[in-house]
Parts: sequence; structure tokens; C-alpha cells
Amino acid sequence: MNPPHTSCCDDQIETSAITVAEAVSRILENTPVLSQLEKLSIRDCLNRVLGKAILSPVNVPASNNSAMDGIAMHAKDLPAEGTQQLKVIGTALAGKPFNGTIGNHECIRIMTGAVMPVDVDTVIMQERVVNIDEQTVQIEAGNRKAQNVRFAGEDIKTGQIVLDAGKLISPADLGVIASLGIAECAVVRKPRIAFFSTGDELKSIGEVLQPGDVYDSNRYSLFGLLSRCHVELIDMGVVRDDPQALRQALLDASASADLVITSGGVSVGEADYIKGILDEIGTMDFWKIAMKPGRPLTFGKINQALFFGLPGNPVAVMVTFYQFVLPALKKLAGKTSKAPMQFIATSQSEMRKRSNRREFQRAIAFNDAAGQLQVKLTGKQGSGILTSMSQANCFIILPEDNSGVSIGDQVIIEFFEDYF
Ligand code: AMP
Ligand code: MG
Repeated sequence: MNPPHTSCCDDQIETSAITVAEAVSRILENTPVLSQLEKLSIRDCLNRVLGKAILSPVNVPASNNSAMDGIAMHAKDLPAEGTQQLKVIGTALAGKPFNGTIGNHECIRIMTGAVMPVDVDTVIMQERVVNIDEQTVQIEAGNRKAQNVRFAGEDIKTGQIVLDAGKLISPADLGVIASLGIAECAVVRKPRIAFFSTGDELKSIGEVLQPGDVYDSNRYSLFGLLSRCHVELIDMGVVRDDPQALRQALLDASASADLVITSGGVSVGEADYIKGILDEIGTMDFWKIAMKPGRPLTFGKINQALFFGLPGNPVAVMVTFYQFVLPALKKLAGKTSKAPMQFIATSQSEMRKRSNRREFQRAIAFNDAAGQLQVKLTGKQGSGILTSMSQANCFIILPEDNSGVSIGDQVIIEFFEDYF
């Protein structure tokens, strides 16, 4: 086959390249939201996306209760100055309320979490109460009305939205849901993701490498990235650079998945068939993106499935996954998306940078002895050097208009963890 004309002249490519932000917005425009929900018992909802808002059926706490061990009394008996003696007429424990009436200059002993009797309004902590005898206590001036009382509905009111649809359910959310007495929640069904690697040079672990071969690592990085997203995975292995095999694999993948991801075979090289196949069996855009690494990206649709053809270079796979696949995956899964938090760090590395493209340098961020955030590159930054990624904990983001970094300059970083 005669290869289409390819030019590696970066300047020429960049005149027709789109920005990272533009690519993300085009991707999101074309990404649907899964509408099917499933009801699961709350433990199984951890790390799932809430499909319907949760409204509280109750007040939390359900009734006014004591925040301290001490005595419960009428605020009107608080001495403005000097001391005041009170008669102790009973005790309230958590789960064992006091049911009598508390008169003037009377009080009860009360423990943390015990319901406040309706006729008293103030709790004095144990440490500020002097026991005169079994039935008599003495308090001093300096206490306030309603102190040390937790009020009904103070945390959550009946009918209030407690968790919004689209929220990724966290350990704290499980506790909140349980505190409402709710046993099951509606969550969005897990997106199904099919993925495979392409390339004649790829060998699986256990096979012997011939000259020019490499072990397929992309499928493992993708497995790791996707596993953090709590999706259903369909690992389709390695597919050769053969148009028939690729066509069939893409059709099979799209028949069972919501999203199909491949790596390799999207640059305009001799064996890069994906583009041609997609033209035939789906719709697609082939973009040169003004970024480094990860410039070529294919995005489209095969049947009902979204399709991402990621570059083959191992670092480019990961960078494009973070920047493009993850936002789409979050939208698909119904998740309210937030951009990763950005931090400003002082660079301990020098970086050369061409303007008009966005660069994602792999780096280690750390606190120096003074507690300041510092960042340094993880060695060589070639897009095939995957150790640059495994040693890193963040990207240094060099925006389009940046034209290089000197040691001591402030740079933007985004932690990998924060993308999920
Ligand atoms: P391609 O985009 O197919 O031209 O691949 C670009 C580079 O990435 C080549 O050096 C490939 O050998 C390498 N590569 C492609 N796929 C993988 C993979 N699954 N694992 C490791 N390296 C790969
Ligand atoms: Mg290839």
C-alpha cells in the first residue's frame, strides 16, 4: 500500500491543529449520558455515580440532644454572677431518655447523645459542675443559654437534598445515607469499555521478543486507568495491523461496549489502518491536537459506541486518556465532572517549550523543608519513556502561551490522583 504523504514538520502540523480545550469540548458535545439506573444496597454503591438525588426522609439529628456529658437545665436558672445550686432529679442516657418534668432550680444529669427533655434548653459540661452532695450540684456564672445542645435537623432537615445526582459516592456519603435509614440507592449502570492494542510488533507477556518486537504495555496501563473508574472492562487483547482483523475487532467491540478504546495505528503511517476503517464502518474525526505528547487522536462513533483511537506511544496513551477519555467517561457515567485541581509549584527543572501547544511534562511534586510545593521532572520526557510516568505523581502543565521555564519559575501542576 502506498502510504499517504506524511510530513513530520511540526510547524506544518500545528497550523491545522486544534487546541486541547477545543478537542475536549468537541468530545463532550458528542458524548451521551447513560440513562439506565440500577438499585443497589448501599455498600455496593461505593465509587458508583448516584443516579437520583437523595432527599432526607428525616431530621438528622432526629431530636435535640446533648453534645456533652454534664447537666441539663433551664437557662433562666443560669447565675448572672456568683454561683447557683440546683437539685438533681434524674438522669438521661443516650437511648434512655428522662421522661419527668424539670422544675425551677432543678436539673438532670445528661450524657452525650441523650435526648434533651423538652422543658430544658442548656447543658453545662461535667467539668464545670461542682457536686455538693448526691442530689445537689453547683454551677458558676459564665455559661450561655442553649450551649452544648445539638438541635434536631441541625445537620440535615427533612426533605432537604442531601446528595445530588451525579455525585460519585464516597465513604462519607455511605455514612450519610445510612444515617438517613436508607438501605438502597439508584446508581447509574457501569459503562462498558472495550479496549485493545494494535501493532504487528506487539508481543504478549510470556512470548519471546524477536528483533523489533515490544511487549504490549498499553493494555496494562489502560487496564489500570480504567479500573480506577469502576467500569466494566472488556479486554480484547492485541490485534494485528491487518485491515480485516481490525475491522472485525472494532465491530465486535462496538456491539458490546459503550466506549471502545484502541492504542496505536492512528498516525498517518503505512500500517495505520484505523482511520480508513472508521471511515467505512462509523463516523470519525482525526485530529492533530496542539499538544505534547499525544498529538494524533481519533474520535468517533461505531454503531452506538463512542470510539477513541489513542496514539501508540505509551506515555501518549496515558496523557490522552487523562485529558480526553476521562472527561468523556465521566459524562457517559453521569458523573458531575470537575477539572483536576491545579496547584502552583516552584520548578526545580528547566524546560524548553515551543509556544502554541500545550505540554504535559511528567514530574514529582513534593514539599521542601519549609513546606513549599516544589516540582521536578522525572528525567527524560520522550513519549515512549513510560518510566517518566511511573515515577511521576503529577503533570506540569505548560499552557499554549508558555515559552519555557527556568529553575525557580512558578508552574501549574495537576496531580494524577485528582483526575478521577
Ligand atoms: P503507532 O502509533 O502504532 O505508530 O505506535 C507508536 C509507537 O508506540 C511505536 O514505537 C510502537 O511500537 C509503540 N506501541 C504501540 N502500541 C504499543 C503497545 N500496546 N505497547 C507498547 N508500545 C506500543
Ligand atoms: Mg502501530
